[in-house]
Amino acid sequence: MSVWDEVVGQEAAVARFRRAASPEGTLAQAWLITGPPGSGRSTAARAFAATLECENDPPVGCGRCRACVTVLAGTHPDVTVVATDKLSISKDEVRSLVLTAQRSPATGRHRVIIVEDADRMSAGTFNVLLKSIEEPPPLTVWMLCAPSAEDLAPTIRSRCHVVTLTIPPAETVAELLVRRDGVDPEVAGRSARAAQGHIGLALRYATQPGALEGRERAARTLLSLRGAGAAVLAAQALVDQATSEAKEHADEVSAAERERFLRSAGIEDEKVPPALRAQYRQLEEDAKRRQTRLVRDVLDRYLLDAHSVLRDVLTLQLDSGSALVNPGVHDALEEAAATSEAGDSLRLLDAVGTARARIAGNVPPLLALEALLAQVAVSRR
Ligand SMILES: [Zn+2]
Repeated sequence: MSVWDEVVGQEAAVARFRRAASPEGTLAQAWLITGPPGSGRSTAARAFAATLECENDPPVGCGRCRACVTVLAGTHPDVTVVATDKLSISKDEVRSLVLTAQRSPATGRHRVIIVEDADRMSAGTFNVLLKSIEEPPPLTVWMLCAPSAEDLAPTIRSRCHVVTLTIPPAETVAELLVRRDGVDPEVAGRSARAAQGHIGLALRYATQPGALEGRERAARTLLSLRGAGAAVLAAQALVDQATSEAKEHADEVSAAERERFLRSAGIEDEKVPPALRAQYRQLEEDAKRRQTRLVRDVLDRYLLDAHSVLRDVLTLQLDSGSALVNPGVHDALEEAAATSEAGDSLRLLDAVGTARARIAGNVPPLLALEALLAQVAVSRR
């Protein structure tokens, strides 16, 4: 057993982390862990932190000692994890992190600060962080996680040791689901293929009733789309679905946050005294930003699914023999492949990329999706 058991398909990266934590290695004090969504950036960062704090001599990340267990559970006093489900990390949050980074470890060997979505900082916020990353106290280690190194300001990036995670192969993800979560091997295989290496998504497909079926239904809708009117309706349906999916989760988080705030301020009747009203309003603001962000995340997932469907169509058109990501809708894929050209599929794959970029760049999602689906609808003969 080891803290690295859940970091699957990342042998090269794991070897680097282990070496850095070993007595023979040299430990850099600022790390940038990059990799596509679902590749396990924050899991890797936590395992690395646990290895640094492990009570064995030398520290190995045994997964059993108190330090290993508490780091993985998120309760180790010297390891701070910042995860944001909002659109951005605020300057104040980073200032408080910088203060934490200045303190020596209370019980462990190091003080570790993990920032899960380091790409969600503005340029001004990066500057607040910069000095602490440049000259951290001797026992402090920063671990920033982001999709790619380009997501961070060059000034920060150049001071970090960059470790890049890759998309784990579907078989490796399937094995993890079987071993860790007790998923049936056949279901694990289907889910891992559909999730295209995204570990969290694979788990969702494998364990949430109807999730895989919903994905296949969406694939069929995409493949049978004909006419501009249908495209407009389908775009609206997708946005509605993403909004309700996001709202459900966002409401849960917000209610819990409000309750925590009221409780910690000792307020029982929801009458917030004037001195605390600004803070309370801030919670409402946060909630709005969180929901916006979640809707975009859900839509991005839909678009990645659409991309995989269109790529399957192209695979059939080129007769390349690669494995299909969506074998469950083979019949609909065959039909789409027969009624359009490979050139159409390539253009549509580009269009999916454009739609993702536009949504990430604040274009109203409905507009971006209408444009994409209209292109899909007219491409079929
Ligand atoms: Zn340990």
